[in-house]
Amino acid sequence: MAKIISFSVKDVRFPTSKDLTGSDAVHTDPDYSATYVTIYTSDENLKGYGIAFTLGKGNDIVADCIKHFFPLFIGITVEELENEIGNLWFKCVDHSQLRWLGPEKGVVHMAVAAIFNSCWDLIAKIHKKPLWQFIVDSKPETIIKWLTFKYIEDVLTEEEAYRILVNSQKYKENRVKIILEEGYPSYTTAAGWLGYSDEKIVRLCKKYISMGWKHFKVKVGLDLEADVKRLKLIRETVGDECFIMVDANQQWNIEQSIKHINAYKKFNLLFVEEPTSPDDVLGFVKIKKAVGNINLATGEACGGRIMFKQFLESGAMNICQIDSCRLGSINEILTVLLMAHKFKVPVFPHAGGVGLCEYVQHLCMIDYVLINGEKHNKFVEYSDQLHEHFAYPCTIKNGNYMPPLDHGYSIEMKENSVNEFLFPDGNYWRNN
Ligand SMILES: [Mg+2]
Repeated sequence: MAKIISFSVKDVRFPTSKDLTGSDAVHTDPDYSATYVTIYTSDENLKGYGIAFTLGKGNDIVADCIKHFFPLFIGITVEELENEIGNLWFKCVDHSQLRWLGPEKGVVHMAVAAIFNSCWDLIAKIHKKPLWQFIVDSKPETIIKWLTFKYIEDVLTEEEAYRILVNSQKYKENRVKIILEEGYPSYTTAAGWLGYSDEKIVRLCKKYISMGWKHFKVKVGLDLEADVKRLKLIRETVGDECFIMVDANQQWNIEQSIKHINAYKKFNLLFVEEPTSPDDVLGFVKIKKAVGNINLATGEACGGRIMFKQFLESGAMNICQIDSCRLGSINEILTVLLMAHKFKVPVFPHAGGVGLCEYVQHLCMIDYVLINGEKHNKFVEYSDQLHEHFAYPCTIKNGNYMPPLDHGYSIEMKENSVNEFLFPDGNYWRNN
C-alpha cells in the first residue's frame, strides 16, 4: 500500500476583480484564489489534491497554516489514512496549540478543509471511484466513524445519525439510477453580480434561460432604490415562471435587513441570503419574526457544525448553505447534512468562486442518495467561471449538475493554469 511521503501547497490567484466577477455589496473586488494542496505518495501515479478558497489577499496565510498539519500525515499508508480519517480529523481540529487560532473556525479551519479535501480525493482514487460514489457505497458503520458529534449531541446523536444512514440504504440503488439520468438541479449566480451593468444582466439572464436555467440569484445591498429597480428589470426579463433570489452578503444591520426585505417582497423571492452577520443567530431570529414567510438563507460563512446547529435549531435558517472549503471537509459536511435533514431544512450548497462548483457536485449527490432522497425544490449554486483551469470540470446539462464520473474529488488543476496564476511568481502576476 502506498505511503504518504510529502505535501506541497501553492498560492494560486485568478484576477477576477478585473471584470468584477464575484463582486457583491461587501466583497467589491475579489480575486478568486485557491490554496492548492497536493499529497505525494510512494506511488508516483497516485496523488491527492485539495483546496481552500479565498478572495486573494490572505491566501498565503491559509497556505502557511496548512503546512503546520503536514507532519501528522507524513509516513502513514493510504490505508491507514482511510481507516483513521475520523481520528485524524479530530486530532487536527483539537490540536492543542493550533486550536487557539479557532477553535474550528477561521484560517485554521479552512486549512483543515484544504488538507482533508485532498485526503478524500486520495481515498476515492484508491477505490477508483468519484468521491460521491465512494461515500454512498460506504457502510453506515464506516461512515459514522468519520464523524465528530462533540458539541452537537444535544440536537443529533450518533445513534440518530446512524439510523438515518441505515434507513436510506434500501433506496440507494434507485436514487443512484435517477441521479445518473437526471443530474441535480442548480441555480445560477452568474447573471447578477453587483458590478455588472443593467444591459449585461439582461443579456446574461436571457443567455442562461436559453441554456435551461429557471433560478437566478442577484446580488443586492448597497442602495435600496437601485436594488428594487434592478429586481424589477430582472423580473420583467425572466418572467413569472422563473425564480429570483437575492444575496446581501452580510451588508445590513437588523433594522435595515427588515426594511430591505419588506421592500423586496413584491418580487416573490425564493429566498434572501445573508442579510446580516453570518454569526448573528439571534439577529436572524428577529429578522425572521419581522418579515414573516420569506425564506432566509445562510451558511456559506458559517465556520463549523456548531454554528449550523444553532441556526437550524433556531428556525431562522430556512435554506442551509454549506461551503465545501469552510466546513472541515467531508467529515464535518456529513454531520451538517444529517442535522439539516433532521430539522427538515433543505440544503443548497454554496458554489461559484474557484473550484467550489467542482466540489458541490459531489455534495449534492451525497445529500440526495445517502441522506435526503429529495431533489425537487432544492438547488445547488452554479456560476460559470474558471472551470477551464480544472482537469475534470463539472458538467451541466439543461441547468442540472451531472454526477462526476472521474475518480476522486474533481479538484486537480491543469499544470499550465497553476504555473500561470501562481502568486506572486507565476507568469500572470510577474507581468501585471
Ligand atoms: Mg452568498
